[in-house]
Amino acid sequence: EQTSAKYKRILLKLSGEALMGELDFGIDPKVLDRMALEIAQLRGLGVQVGLVIGGGNLFRGKALSEAGLDRVAGDHMGMLATVMNALAMRDALERSNMPTRVMSAIPMSGVVDHYDRRSAIRALNQGDVVIFSAGTGNPFFTTDSAACLRGIEINADLVLKATNVDGVYTADPKKDPTAEKYDLLTYSEVLEKQLGVMDLTAIVLAQDHDMPLRVYNMNDTGVLGRLMTGGEHGTLIVS
Ligand code: UDP
Repeated sequence: EQTSAKYKRILLKLSGEALMGELDFGIDPKVLDRMALEIAQLRGLGVQVGLVIGGGNLFRGKALSEAGLDRVAGDHMGMLATVMNALAMRDALERSNMPTRVMSAIPMSGVVDHYDRRSAIRALNQGDVVIFSAGTGNPFFTTDSAACLRGIEINADLVLKATNVDGVYTADPKKDPTAEKYDLLTYSEVLEKQLGVMDLTAIVLAQDHDMPLRVYNMNDTGVLGRLMTGGEHGTLIVS
């Protein structure tokens, strides 16, 4: 497949909360459609797209365990939540005429395919969007770690993390007006300064395997397409 873009294959991480839009819980179909449009732009540029979707709009193991539920049961619920989000996202992508495969780290025969690295890569080469659901399949991990893991496994050129701010800041820009944005950071700076980009496991994994990360603002229409063609936006994290 030919691409005019800077990147041949990317792994995009969308949090569950991103799918919630203005709602307090669940999935806003309007957000799904907008994300599908952004992804269509990437596909139009010939960029292969893998997606990891979170589940925080539905369930988080940590929050459930704080409310008294067993942590592992809660994490299993959180992982199942990511599968629900993936099914909704696939629906939106396919309505926008993008063939999509959903794979799950937890086997769920009859609903989605079981994760298999080689068939994921085959599907990506064929032009399908591949959604990696159920996180890593293990409790005590997050979908940020799953995004770095899958990104590394499929040899993505970049892992992108969608957020509601323009990148990584010295402090929370929504609370501190003097907060400044970083254009470029190293993994060690993120770890030392404890910048809440992704959880530490995810950052260390990216560092160990030299996987570049970019944090960007998903509310900025067309930003993904611009990033693929050399546009500057967000914060890049490298070694
Ligand atoms: N989860 C897990 N293992 C994984 C990925 C996710 O146990 O490898 C569970 C965990 O309980 C987590 C929930 O699934 O809280 C939803 O994922 P996450 O919090 O990463 O979603 P996001 O914050 O991106 O919406």
